[in-house]
Formats: sequence, structure tokens, C-alpha cells
Amino acid sequence: MTLEDELKARIQATGPLTIADYMAECLLHPRHGYYATQDPLGRAGDFITAPEISQMFGELLGLFLAQCWIDQGSPSTFRLVELGPGRGTLMVDILRATKAVPGFHEAADLHLVEASPTLRTKQRETIGHPLTHHDDLNGVPDGPLFLIANEFFDALPIRQFQRDKQGWRERLVGLNDGTLTLGLSDPTAPDFLGHRTNDTKPGDVVEISVPSQTIASHIGQRIANQGGVALIIDYGDWRSLGDTFQAIRAHEKVSPFDTPGSADLTAHVDLEALATAASPAAHTRLTPQGVFLERLGITPRAQALANSLSGEALENHVAAHHRLTHPDQMGTLFKAMAIYPSDSPQPPGFAQ
Ligand code: SAH
Repeated sequence: MTLEDELKARIQATGPLTIADYMAECLLHPRHGYYATQDPLGRAGDFITAPEISQMFGELLGLFLAQCWIDQGSPSTFRLVELGPGRGTLMVDILRATKAVPGFHEAADLHLVEASPTLRTKQRETIGHPLTHHDDLNGVPDGPLFLIANEFFDALPIRQFQRDKQGWRERLVGLNDGTLTLGLSDPTAPDFLGHRTNDTKPGDVVEISVPSQTIASHIGQRIANQGGVALIIDYGDWRSLGDTFQAIRAHEKVSPFDTPGSADLTAHVDLEALATAASPAAHTRLTPQGVFLERLGITPRAQALANSLSGEALENHVAAHHRLTHPDQMGTLFKAMAIYPSDSPQPPGFAQ
């Protein structure tokens, strides 16, 4: 039975699914889920992420983490954590760039949060450093938390609500003549949309990711109580407005309802929601990725690497720098957000 048949049978039996339920099944279903069954990353895969574009990305993030660790008194043990490490490329670059930082590797205890068995195997092979995998952050032992998450939150399930004259209706995945189709729920008035009444009008769609908020809140509390920093990089904006639910297959946009489980499903990240969830205890700062990487010194690093390159390799390197930082490419759409203890120095790369 295909995932599509399974989902249709479920809808017939118990009614329409929230987009969050649909997304979770498509991405993580143990047999048919997109992340559960394949390695979707890289040039040959469906999409390419910043660490796969250039080693400079992970190197700068490694130095960012090391600087924050030093700023917090170089704790002799800390949890180095990555959420959704993909192929492990980013962690390899982080570990290489921090090798020369005295004491950092000795203090680092590596934990990876990863849902996909295929990618867990790949990460173990690529990283070649003792590590522990977890299903979620709860399994990571106590201690200062130095955490990185690149393009992780965009993969977490979202629900969509559409404003109408009376209030809200949830967008649900149902069946129309045997085809998966979006429809609207009966009127509903969830508390978590109270703050969106003033900045929306009838017809507008807003998105909310409950799991993302739960994780951000957990990170904020841990960092406030035990120290550390979290660096979250993803595409999105300070406040979500509009339908950003999308499917990518072989570097092309396709319908999210076409052949469930065969495409990457994502939504833009509502960074305000993450900051709000994290911030009762910890501070947060936000800046566009391009500005953030420039402040961390990507241009001098790019020039240093360029000295040993020529021909096509040099062209690719220059293009990669441009792709990571230029406003027309990833520089503005992607944002970097740091969560850090209110009594610690502000992390590097963020404006005062
Ligand atoms: N950070 C990597 C990969 C991004 S793709 C990079 O920048 O290249 C998203 C990653 O998150 C994958 O490793 C995927 O398997 C993982 N993932 C998605 N949903 C998850 C969930 N609910 N729990 C844990 N890991 C998840």
C-alpha cells in the first residue's frame, strides 16, 4: 500500500487531517516517509543546504560556537548538539575549524537529534567522532548547551489557519472525488491566534508550528539555567503571513499533495514564535544570514581559500560565497537567530 492510499483510507475512516499531521506522515512515516527512506540532500538529491554549498559556512559557525564557549568561561564539559544534521557535513566543518581552539574538543560531548535512520548511519560515517543520537532534545544530558540547527525548523510540521469575517478556519487535508484536497474546518478560535487579529484581514493565512515552539522553549529554559548558546539558521521571517507550505523534488517546486512521501515538505519559519517561546528566560537576537556571515569574516576566509584555487574550482568557490551571502540568493531570506543567557556577552555576528 502506498502512503497516498494509507492517508486516503485514514481520512475516509476518521476525517480530514491537519496539515501538521499530513506533513509528519509524509516526512517521517517509518516505511514511506521522505526523510525515513532516503538521503535527500546535495546536488544529486532534491535540495542543497548551506553546509553542502561551501565549507566556509560550517567553519564560521564552528568559530562562532568556540567564541561563545570562551565568552562563557570555557566550561570544562558541554553538550555540543546539532538538530537535524543531514549528512553530517556541517558538524565535520565545525569540528575541523575548532580543532585549534585549546580545550574545546576535550570539553565537547557530541549529541545529534535525528529522526531518519538512513541519515543517522550517514552521520556516523561522515563525522568519525564519538557521538550519541537522540529522537529529541530530552535525551541530551544536562550541562551547558551549545546547539546548532540549520534548516531543521522548516521541516517541522505546521498548521495553517485562514481568517474569515467571524474568526478563523483551519486548512485541512481531505478528499474530493478520491483526490487529496485542501478544505476548511468549521469556525474555530484558537488562543494562540489572539495576537494575529490586528495584523490580518479576511482571506489571510497564518501558520503555526507547535513542535517548533516546544523545542524553542526547551532550548531557552536550558540555556537560561545551564548556560550555552543556540544558533538557529533557517528561511523565514519575524512574523509569518501567508501560505509558505511547499514541496521540493529534484530542485523543483511541486504540489505538496502529489505522491505523498516523495518530496521534501517545508514551511518558512516564524522566528518571532521561536524567540517568544525561548525568551522568558534567555535573550534572542536575529540578523539576516548574509550580514551574519560577513560579520563573522566570510570575505577574508573566502579570499584565503581562493589563493589556492584556480579555473573551475575558483569559479565555484566565488559562486558559493555569493550564494551564501547575496541578498538575491540566501543572504536575506535566511536568518540567523541566537538564544543565549541574559547575563552572558552577546554572541558574535549580531548587531548591538
Ligand atoms: N542541517 C542539515 C540538514 C537539513 S535537512 C543541513 O543543513 O544540510 C533536515 C534535517 O532534519 C534532516 O537531517 C532530517 O532528517 C531532520 N529532521 C526532520 N524532521 C525531524 C524531526 N522531527 N526530528 C528530528 N530530525 C528531523
